Amino acid sequence: MKNLAILGSTGSIGVSTLEIVAANPDRYRVLTLTAGSNLVRLAEQVRQFRPLAVAVVSPADARQLKESLGPAAPEILSGVEGLIACAAYPEVDMVVSAVVGAAGLVPTMAAIEAGKDVALANKETLVAAGPLVMEAVARKGVKLYPVDSEHSAIFQSLEGHRKCDVRRLILTASGGPFRNHSHAELKKVSPADALNHPNWSMGRKITVDSATMMNKGLEVIEAKWLFDLPADRIAVHIHPQSIVHSMVEYIDGSVIAQLGIPDMKAPIAYALSYPERLSLNLPPLDLCSLGTLTFEKPDFGRFSCLALAYYALREGGTAPAVLNAANEVAVEAFLNGEISFLDISTTIRATLDGHRNETLTHIDGALRADRKARVAARRVIDAAH
Ligand code: NAD
Ligand code: MG
Repeated sequence: MKNLAILGSTGSIGVSTLEIVAANPDRYRVLTLTAGSNLVRLAEQVRQFRPLAVAVVSPADARQLKESLGPAAPEILSGVEGLIACAAYPEVDMVVSAVVGAAGLVPTMAAIEAGKDVALANKETLVAAGPLVMEAVARKGVKLYPVDSEHSAIFQSLEGHRKCDVRRLILTASGGPFRNHSHAELKKVSPADALNHPNWSMGRKITVDSATMMNKGLEVIEAKWLFDLPADRIAVHIHPQSIVHSMVEYIDGSVIAQLGIPDMKAPIAYALSYPERLSLNLPPLDLCSLGTLTFEKPDFGRFSCLALAYYALREGGTAPAVLNAANEVAVEAFLNGEISFLDISTTIRATLDGHRNETLTHIDGALRADRKARVAARRVIDAAH
């Protein structure tokens, strides 16, 4: 029996994780749940999975949840302390880190420091503080399993091979809903257009990130830290069908890939059950019906967020944390109708331009860079409007 903490349980990844848990009650038990919003869904999850402790962001939500659950309520915590307590909860074996954004950094680090294995969906944690996270993983001797489908594919394609034989990693990207849009067309896209992803059903922020291709940029940075390869050995191929989830190219020219239908349950289940595989009730991959799989080069001109991410990765230090924080602010402003789609990348670029890079030696440095970048990005947006 594996005891789980699920951070971000009401989100897209959290809900899929709980579906896997519900289908495998003999293998997994939920000890703690955390959520930022959607109290109704959280209360339903508490009734179904009977965790020992739950954390929400605000004390007011904690009170409301307690009231709605009545005498059967578990321990209910709030704030960052609550998140940390749930992540580091005694007897938890594995923490599923599925909070969205840099808010996942502190609880994910707390989980690692408490000696928990981590199934990591929250890529922003590795973007903001990759070297510190990987140092803590090594020091504590815990396992960090990727949930992101591309990184799960690479993890699977590396199995049984020597790292010194790897030439490069090839991350695939669907290209999002605007793959074939001209610059003029990109100027006019609305939040509703951006939220309409062709292949994947996900939370709002990552869906917009997929439309700008910042998601792939964040994933390049995530891959750098998970697999310890420099930026020039991590390539991106556009693959609109989202069937090949990513590939590893070896020095003899062999390329090993992992394929499957686009459903996050597969990589989540692999992170939970590694090295075993769970039987999942998903439709089989029917390559004959699909007929054609295509690949093309990404256009760094139209999708400049991808170029900005490579830039931040090469800069190192606090630059990736700044890239990530500016992106979070810009995406929120876009979804609120404050800025246009193309303003997302100009906001991030201006924030990076104004940033004085620092070496990353402690998590506080990443958090400070994140806070300052949010203020700076907000200023860029306000100055332009
Ligand atoms: P989501 O928006 O659907 O869910 C996010 C969860 O985090 C929710 O439970 C929300 O209440 C909680 N949350 C939000 N802000 C919080 C805060 N400040 N403090 C505490 N909790 C907070 O997001 P998602 O699509 O499930 O994505 C979660 C993470 O997984 C992201 O980092 C994303 O990049 C990554 N990811 C998602 C997918 C996917 O298919 N959805 C695929 C790969 C990676
Ligand atoms: Mg991904």
